[in-house]
Amino acid sequence: MNRKGILTVISGFSGVGKGTIVKKLLENYQEYALSISATTRAPREGEQEGREYFFKTKAEFETMIAKDAFVEYARFVENYYGTPKEYVEEKLSEGKDVILEIEIQVAMKIKEKYPDALTLFIVPPTPEVLKQRLIGRGTESEQVIASRLKRAAEEAKGMSQYDYLIVNDDLDTCVREVHAVIQSEHLKNSRNTEFRKKLEYGMSQFLKGDK
Ligand code: ADP
Ligand code: 5GP
Repeated sequence: MNRKGILTVISGFSGVGKGTIVKKLLENYQEYALSISATTRAPREGEQEGREYFFKTKAEFETMIAKDAFVEYARFVENYYGTPKEYVEEKLSEGKDVILEIEIQVAMKIKEKYPDALTLFIVPPTPEVLKQRLIGRGTESEQVIASRLKRAAEEAKGMSQYDYLIVNDDLDTCVREVHAVIQSEHLKNSRNTEFRKKLEYGMSQFLKGDK
C-alpha cells in the first residue's frame, strides 16, 4: 500500500499539551518527522539553528518567498515565520508523516492548499482542566493566562473544521490515539488508488480462462 507520508496538522488551545504530545510521538514512534519553521527573528538564549527554527536574514527569507519555497508563511510584528517546503516534501517522500504544530488560521490555509492534509485538534477534557494546565506550567503570568483563555474561547469556534478531535486527558492514551488516527489514515481507500487499481487488474486476471 501507499506509504507516502501524510502532512499532519496538530492544533489546539495554548496549554492543552500539544508540545508534550508531539515530543512523545517523536520519541515513541519512528513514523514521524517534525517540521521546523524558518524565521527572521533573532535566536533566543538556548535556541539552536535547525532545532527550534532555521534562522534567516530578511533578504534570505524574501528570496525564499520569491521562489515559492514555503508551504505557508506569515509576518508577525516585524518578523517573518514560515514552513519551508523542501524539508516537508523530502520527509513526505521518505514515507515520514510530517507534523506541523500550528495555530488554527494557518491550519485552514494549509488545508486549502493541501486538501490531503490530515487535521487534528487537541482538546482538554474540560475547560477547567485547560486553565489548570496553563497555571501548572508556570511559564506565564496570571494576566497572560487570562488572555490565552480568551483567545482559546475564540479558537474553539473553529474546532468543527478539523478532521479529528482528540482529548488529552491521560497523556499516554492521547499519544496512542493520535498515532492510531494517523496510521489508520494511511489505509483510506482514497489514499491508495494506485495500489487498488493494480490489485483490481490483477484480480480481474482470474476471470480469464481456468487459471
Ligand atoms: P501546549 O504546547 O499545547 O501549549 P504544553 O505541552 O506546554 O502545551 O502543556 C501544558 C502543560 O500541561 C505542561 O505543564 C504539561 O506538562 C501539562 N500536560 C500536558 N499534557 C498533560 C496531561 N495529559 N495531563 C496532565 N498534564 C499535562
Ligand atoms: P516565537 O517568536 O514566540 O517563537 O513565535 C511567534 C509566533 O510565530 C507564534 O505564534 C508561532 O505559532 C508563530 N509561528 C512559528 N512558526 C511559524 C510558521 O512556520 N508559520 C506561521 N505562520 N507562524 C509560525
